[in-house]
Amino acid sequence: MARILVLGAALGGLQTALLLAQDGHDVTVLERDPHPAPPDTESAWSHWRRPGIPQLRLTHLPLARWHQLAEAHLPGLVREMTASGAVRMNVLAPEPALRGPLLPVDERFDTLAARRSLLESAATRVAEAAGIRIRRGITCRGLHSPRSVRIPCGAGPGSRVPQVTGVETSTGTLPADLVVDCTGRRSQLPSWLRAVGVPDPIEESGRRGFTYYSRYFRSADGALPTDKFPLVAEHGSLGLLRIPADHGTYSLCLIGRSDDQEVRHALRDERAWSAAVRLFPGADVWLDGEPITDGIQIMAGLTDRKRTLYDTEHPSVTGLVAVGDAWAFTTPAVGRGLAMSLQHSLVLRDVLRKTGTAHAVDLVTQFARATRDDLGPVYRQTSAYTRHRIAEMDAHAAGIPYRNPEWTRAKALAALARHNADALRAERAAAHLLPDAHDLLHTPALTDAVTRLLPDVEQNAPPGPTRAGLLKTIAP
Ligand SMILES: Cc1cc2nc3c(=O)[nH]c(=O)nc-3n(C[C@H](O)[C@H](O)[C@H](O)COP(=O)(O)OP(=O)(O)OC[C@H]3O[C@@H](n4cnc5c(N)ncnc54)[C@H](O)[C@@H]3O)c2cc1C
Repeated sequence: MARILVLGAALGGLQTALLLAQDGHDVTVLERDPHPAPPDTESAWSHWRRPGIPQLRLTHLPLARWHQLAEAHLPGLVREMTASGAVRMNVLAPEPALRGPLLPVDERFDTLAARRSLLESAATRVAEAAGIRIRRGITCRGLHSPRSVRIPCGAGPGSRVPQVTGVETSTGTLPADLVVDCTGRRSQLPSWLRAVGVPDPIEESGRRGFTYYSRYFRSADGALPTDKFPLVAEHGSLGLLRIPADHGTYSLCLIGRSDDQEVRHALRDERAWSAAVRLFPGADVWLDGEPITDGIQIMAGLTDRKRTLYDTEHPSVTGLVAVGDAWAFTTPAVGRGLAMSLQHSLVLRDVLRKTGTAHAVDLVTQFARATRDDLGPVYRQTSAYTRHRIAEMDAHAAGIPYRNPEWTRAKALAALARHNADALRAERAAAHLLPDAHDLLHTPALTDAVTRLLPDVEQNAPPGPTRAGLLKTIAP
């Protein structure tokens, strides 16, 4: 069994460590932040200093796909999160379109609703109980790569590539058979690779992104403000998330374009933020809870980025892989990070089962191919969402319609899902990356119903106020 160093002890790193430790590998996790998780949920929320996870106190909800994978492969993690107060919720249940009861098969739409601090601290306890060493306050500063390895012939002159055999840290060199980068969206991998002679990874990234304006509340009676509400609603220039969490808490999050200066300046102000929330039907009662975050928590530049360490045939380094956000992050507006990251950890586990670490070239090559095949399509679909949504927001600001056949079709499905339970199931299955989404979306009845709606959707402006109406509402 291999000696594996996982860099980063946030959920992505901890999930990876747990899966690899279950297979008998000797796993150590290095974490730059020095502070351990406080023992109870409320202290973790109020006091846990985690600068490495700046999104710790912003709106979060794992997809149903994450819950499915976690229940199947990390049941102890789901148990600990639930015991700590995470609420098992069905993502269909709150939607106004679901007028009938949930069916037994709708269980696949279940997920865990909780503040991210609860999910993180529960995962830390499970990892520690599983015997995984988490070394806090240790920063990885680079790669240890004293030798190179030959990659198969046909690769041309550059047929030897560095073999990573450990990492350089703030406390010295640590050896490993495999280094797994789980340091998230701020991963320094390109500069570490450059230092051992590897050209920058191929990178694709959305040039423009979203800003979160998020706030958590606690309801007086522990219940959610209304029975039926859309988890996600989109107007022309702003979106609104209404996301339940643990212990009677919930969050409201407005989502705008990061380069929308008029909106950006206004929404820092609590009054303007509340006024913008009230523009969404039924959202005003959600403002009655007691705020549990200081002011409006803002995070900008939320877009998509994917890095590959390999071309399609040959690796540029061995002994090292990047998992989760360090490989690719996607806009949080669609909430895919945790599901994609767990799926990616499972890809690594399965490839390691086949190749072990002794076959260094096979390991990284098969991992790159499986990553491309299993997760590449999800990344592409999410970055298409970002492009279309930003174009729609631009068009709204300019007072013109945004017309694109792919986007119009997605909007028609969403419109149908607001009053048709089959369409809702298909739309939620796709949004939550469930394996049966393709079959549900492509039934002849649904395809026809969506097609019939296209002309109406093309004619209609997005719901919500005009741009002038929005700016007037949030003006000081
Ligand atoms: C605003 C926001 C909202 C989100 N909402 C959702 C959501 O609703 N649902 C969802 O599924 N996903 C969501 N995500 C995405 C989700 O947070 C990530 O996909 C998830 O955290 C997995 O990331 P990770 O563990 O790979 O990296 P991160 O969470 O970024 O963690 C990286 C870890 O590495 C450590 N580290 C960094 N550098 C070093 C170093 N040099 N040495 C040692 N340690 C280091 C950091 O301290 C940190 O602990 C959201 C993201 C953002 C930004």
